[in-house]
Amino acid sequence: MISFEEVSKTYPGGQQALVKVNFHIAPGEMAFLTGHSGAGKSTLLKLISIMERPSVGKVLINGHDLNTITRRQIAYIRRDIGMIFQSHQLLMDKTAFDNVALPLVIEGYTHKEINKRVMAALEMVGLHDKAKYFPMMLSGGEQQRIGIARAVVNKPPILLADEPTGNLDPKLSMEIIKLFEEFNRAGVSVLIATHDLGLIARMRYRTLTLRRGRMITDGLTESEGDML
Ligand code: ADP
Ligand code: ADP
Repeated sequence: MISFEEVSKTYPGGQQALVKVNFHIAPGEMAFLTGHSGAGKSTLLKLISIMERPSVGKVLINGHDLNTITRRQIAYIRRDIGMIFQSHQLLMDKTAFDNVALPLVIEGYTHKEINKRVMAALEMVGLHDKAKYFPMMLSGGEQQRIGIARAVVNKPPILLADEPTGNLDPKLSMEIIKLFEEFNRAGVSVLIATHDLGLIARMRYRTLTLRRGRMITDGLTESEGDML
């Protein structure tokens, strides 16, 4: 589903963000990506969502080599990827419903189909009764769940999350992770970038650890102490 082969990324300024990174994420797998600030987590996610290109090496998504795909294929592959951010990036002048509907409106779905899918997505995150609320009327955890509903509304097989619990307390963070687990059980591949080691330690998932752009560990978390 997602493959990195000897991937390096050097930004125009000369900053080496990733160095010879190799990993593979299978369909239906859920994994954490961790490392200190500046380790390269966001860059790795941006390579998967084709917001950045590798300087060296190969990134494969669903068998497509991102070095050789066409513009038309980029749009097609992006549709397979749901992105969740720390700052949920909701439009504050739009209701929860309209925020979640946005990807479907862009795709040109009918009103009926949009209504059905948006309400199903809001139901999944437990907020179907808040469809008409504006983001300001919702708590931080609820805003994040609206962001998640928007990311899954067109049922992408891949979910990428960049510090999705960054602004949330431990209890709300766990609820968000439980939500990801539900999508994962439904067959979605999930990759969660976080520096919240406490959160990772409470789960038992494969954890990819970056340090200054290099992948230093890849496996199940053992203990909280010796990860970085
Ligand atoms: P993380 O998400 O783990 O904090 P990043 O992927 O954001 O790490 O950053 C990795 C390195 O690349 C850092 O040194 C950062 O300063 C640098 N970097 C990130 N984005 C850019 C950019 N657009 N231009 C130049 N350097 C960048
Ligand atoms: P938290 O303590 O988790 O930040 P809040 O106290 O902000 O939560 O919100 C608690 C509940 O009250 C939420 O379900 C939210 O949707 C609702 N709420 C908060 N502010 C408003 C508002 N201005 N109008 C209507 N409902 C609100």
